[in-house]
Amino acid sequence: MPRARRAGTISTPSCWPVPARPVSGKQSTLITGIGELVTNDQGRYAAVTGAALVMAGGTVAWTGPASRAPAADVAVDAAGRAVLPGFADSHAHLVFAGERSAEFAARMAGRPYRAGGILATVEATRAASDAVLRANLRRLAAEMLRQGTTTFECKSGYGLTVPDEARGLAFAAEVTPEVTYLGAHVVPPEYAGDPAGYVDLVCGPMLDACAPSARWVDVFCAEGAFGAGEAAAILAAGQAAGLAARVHANQLGPGPGVRVAAEAGAASADHCTFLTRADMDALASASVVATLLPGAEFGTRQPFPDARLLLDAGVTVALATDCNPGSSFTSSMPFCIALAVREMRMTTEEAVWAATAGGARALRRTDIGHLGPGARADLIMLDAPSHAYLAYRPGVPQIAAVWQAGRLVAGSVS
Ligand SMILES: [Zn+2]
Repeated sequence: MPRARRAGTISTPSCWPVPARPVSGKQSTLITGIGELVTNDQGRYAAVTGAALVMAGGTVAWTGPASRAPAADVAVDAAGRAVLPGFADSHAHLVFAGERSAEFAARMAGRPYRAGGILATVEATRAASDAVLRANLRRLAAEMLRQGTTTFECKSGYGLTVPDEARGLAFAAEVTPEVTYLGAHVVPPEYAGDPAGYVDLVCGPMLDACAPSARWVDVFCAEGAFGAGEAAAILAAGQAAGLAARVHANQLGPGPGVRVAAEAGAASADHCTFLTRADMDALASASVVATLLPGAEFGTRQPFPDARLLLDAGVTVALATDCNPGSSFTSSMPFCIALAVREMRMTTEEAVWAATAGGARALRRTDIGHLGPGARADLIMLDAPSHAYLAYRPGVPQIAAVWQAGRLVAGSVS
């Protein structure tokens, strides 16, 4: 109906035009004239110039010099622009209701803010209808896609009752396969006098209700949240239910989170803001990815972790947004790349690798984060000639087009 179409057009942000005729993943597409093609070949940052790429059947079919490119159903001229793997955002909290801009403003004004924090979001989330929760989640997922994120992880953790956690995870599973059970985010007020009882709930009936929707189990291991023994028990229970482990570790100060993650064989220890040398050695020797979340340091005025020390210690580093309404309300991987380069001593190559291949490692995915033949055709074209522009021009929209499994899903190729 014309009326409905017009409404849809108005709701589309003008800076991200939806293509008039979406290019189907069933058609093969040749992108030629690529100024810089970031392939992340052989597991490391790698890029070639003057390249072309063919995608077919949802995967990358061929890459090489433009002069030898095979024919395809659809041809796109990148006109010297850069093509990168889509971003893999391995840490996001997108199932929530409400917002906390007043808390942020007070924090930035140097005033202590005591009213609520995470629990304010828990209250709003519990009170929200299914439609409101779903709409917020889908709006944020679409926002991520437009900014080049083709894979994202999504946690629960603002419900903290059996039905509310199960509801959040079921909604998350509608938009991503990377779903994380975070019943152990904080102890909810009704268990304030019985934290052990809440851990029993998280490891028992809540896990039973949530495991069918989830791939991962996570725990916020910090003072004021869950201690080392509780965190280890929660991860072990999740693993026994078939989930793989990841941990919120060492965010607010030095602590046992990284050690717990290493001992549990977790895929990733996230935040890693306050690390000892022993923590870095544990991450390296246990092959736990350190997922750094510079949006959280930005949003809380905490010191940034030093990625240079981690990289020099042989730790695999990923970058993610930590998108949540309290400490890091950004869904932008380009913003996180810029922060990582400026504030965490990463090179532009390291930051782009961490936001693509690093995120894939943190999610134990081998099909994404690189653009060699056989990789999933998740890729972005920048409105810029090189990956460095993501940090060189911070805050500027530079994602010209986004393909997911070979299908143009955001931006345009004109
Ligand atoms: Zn988080």
